[in-house]
Order: sequence, then structure tokens, then C-alpha cells
Amino acid sequence: MKFSELGIPSDILKSLETMGYEDMTPVQEAAYPIISDGHDLCALAETGSGKTAACAIPLIQKVDPELNAIQGLVIVPTRELCIQYVTEIQKISKKTNVIPFAVYGGFDKDIDIAKLKHGVHILVATPGRLLDYLYSGVLSFKHVKCAILDEADELLKVGFLEDIEFIMSCILHEHQTLLFSATMPEDIKTLAHDCLRDPKHISLITERKAPESIDHYFTYHHPKEKQAALVKYLNEEDVKQVLIFCNARHMVDKLFSSIRKDFEDVGYIHAGLSQDKRSSVFRQFKNMKIRYLLASDVAGRGLDFSHVSHVVNWSLPRGKELYTHRTGRTGRMGKKGKALTFITRHELSDLRELINRNKISPYWLGKDPLQKGSTPQGRKTRKRPFRPNRGMGKKVAKP
Ligand code: AMP
Repeated sequence: MKFSELGIPSDILKSLETMGYEDMTPVQEAAYPIISDGHDLCALAETGSGKTAACAIPLIQKVDPELNAIQGLVIVPTRELCIQYVTEIQKISKKTNVIPFAVYGGFDKDIDIAKLKHGVHILVATPGRLLDYLYSGVLSFKHVKCAILDEADELLKVGFLEDIEFIMSCILHEHQTLLFSATMPEDIKTLAHDCLRDPKHISLITERKAPESIDHYFTYHHPKEKQAALVKYLNEEDVKQVLIFCNARHMVDKLFSSIRKDFEDVGYIHAGLSQDKRSSVFRQFKNMKIRYLLASDVAGRGLDFSHVSHVVNWSLPRGKELYTHRTGRTGRMGKKGKALTFITRHELSDLRELINRNKISPYWLGKDPLQKGSTPQGRKTRKRPFRPNRGMGKKVAKP
């Protein structure tokens, strides 16, 4: 279905045309009528599905620009997602009088407060900063018509639950609530039950398997050989942009200092950087000023970098969902992407579990350590039977 068939106001439609949005994505088609009709919504959908616009388009239409008050509230788990979300709303609402704004940790509070006093219609926020302003009385939710919890599974995972419950309890009157989550474990269901009133449900993830737009490559090395292999790979590939994930921030720092001599436009991002630096690196990467970005998992989830042709895992990611989140930064919106994961000997049993659990058809660059002997370069390997893993995710390093 096309946006032009929805009867949405021309000032929004024109912006959508400028953005190149003509056909609705499945999540947009499913969510639009539910949100427009004012129902609560519990949606199982991932970043990359077009869920930001799915919410933003009807949300902008619900705002009365004459009323100088926050009418839409969006809560997201990370600062980068906050910037990404508000940027999308800004683009869609550009030709309207609706004012979106984002508040997140690390940004100048005086600027935030001045802007909030001047007037904001749609507020996108991370929980910490939102709480700060709620406690200090800077914010009023008196006119909030619609609240959105984005990446709800992540909002819970990092221990935000009490904060979210408190924030939601500050909206005292009847309002619409939309909850988006990539997974629906029991605790999300409980949250959904507490926050939502007679919600409609949509599920756009039928099976949690790796998207077909991504080819999954693996390469097996001694730790000392990895860096030379990475440099060689990046030089040989037609890389538009690459995200190289490390499991901890000190590994990002280490790899950055050793490969910066090999590549000119290389940057790095992790939670140890100041917010100014993080935002600046994030924007530079989005605007293609950085081609090779080394990252901890702050960049792994939810972020939409549409030019990323390659994702590299410097080590096998720890934890169940991380591989999917990281590799999902490429192969977006119908484009093809490549994921390459470096494997060392001690990661083999975790790798077997990953391949089985995520139903990955691996391609091996060089030797396939899961087979007896090795396979020729880039050939698909046979699936191996599942073997329970014994050593997964014991120690979590700082992202
Ligand atoms: P999201 O899931 O909201 O992060 O969106 C993922 C990507 O899809 C973003 O780069 C959007 O700009 C893009 N996008 C969203 N909706 C559409 C659409 N209807 N047509 C084309 N691209 C879209």
C-alpha cells in the first residue's frame, strides 16, 4: 500500500516523498490504522522494519500545534537511538508546525530546559534524563496523548523497569500507549499488561532467524594473526562502510590504535567516550565521513546506518541476541550485506551453538574448523548437529 492512499495531510506526504518513502513497509501498514484509531498497541517488530515512521506519522497528526505542551512522549534505551528517532520525526514533520525534541544524558541541561520552556510537542527521551526533569519539575505530562516505549525489551534488560514504571505513572490521565519490542519474553508481557489497556497485538517477526539479506562469513585464526587478516579482508572487499564490533571498550581502544595506521577514515565509539564525542562520531558515521567504525555494543542495537555494507565481529559476541543485533546493522531495507566473524579456538563450542540456534548457513573464509580438514574459500558448509554449549557469556565487559 502507498502512503498517498492513506489520506494523510499533504505537508506530511510531501516530506515522505522527499525522504523516498512511497510504499509502506509491513509494520507501517499494520500499525498505522491501529495507532490512528487511538488503540493501545503491543508490537513485535525490530529496527529496520520502518517502525519509527510507523509511529511518527500518526503521532505527528495527533499533535495540536496550537497547544504549547508535550503531547507525544517516546522513551528509548540509548542516546544514539534518541537522536535517530528524533531525526526521523524532524524529517517527517518538517513542513508542519509540530516541534519534536530529544533529551538524553550528557547533553547540556540549560539548552534542554530553555527549549522545553519555549515549547515542545513531541519529546523523545532516555529514561535517566527524563527522570531528572520529572523530579526537578521541568516537565509536565498533563497533555500527553500518546506514549511510546521503543525497544521495550532493552528498556527492561538494562534495569530500567522501575524508572519506566515511575515515568508512566506520571501520566495521570487516559492516554494511548504503544509498545515496540524485538522479543516478547515474560517480563515484557508483564510490563505490557501493566501499561497497556486492551491493546491490539501485531507480530512482524515470524521466526527469529538471520535475515536472508545477510551472508554470514566466518574466519578462523590464531589471535596473533587476526589483525593482519582483518586489514587484508577490508582491503580486498568492496566496503562502503563497515562496523567492527569488539566485546569490550578496551578492545576497541586497542584495535583502534593498531589499525588507524592502515586506514584513513577510521573512528571508534564506546560508552567510555564523552557524550559530545559519541554524538559527533555517530553523526560522522551516518554522514559517511567515517568509513571504518570500531564499536562496542553501544552501536549494536537498533541503530540504522543505511550504508553499512559489512559488519565484522572481532570476536564472537557474548550473549544470545547480540549476534543478531550486530549483524542486523547491515543488509537493511532490501540491500545485501556481509557479516564476518573472527573465531579463535576457544570460541568453537559457542560458535556451534550460535549457528544452530540462529539457523545460519555459514561461509568460511579459509579453513573451516568445524569440519574435519578444511573447505575451499567461501564454500557453504553443512549444518552440524546441535551440541549444548558449556561456556557461554560468563563475564561481561564494559560496552
Ligand atoms: P526503522 O526501523 O524505523 O529504524 O527504519 C529503518 C530504515 O527504513 C530507515 O533508514 C528508514 O529511513 C527506512 N524506511 C522506513 N520506512 C520506509 C519506507 N516506507 N520506505 C523506504 N524506507 C523506509
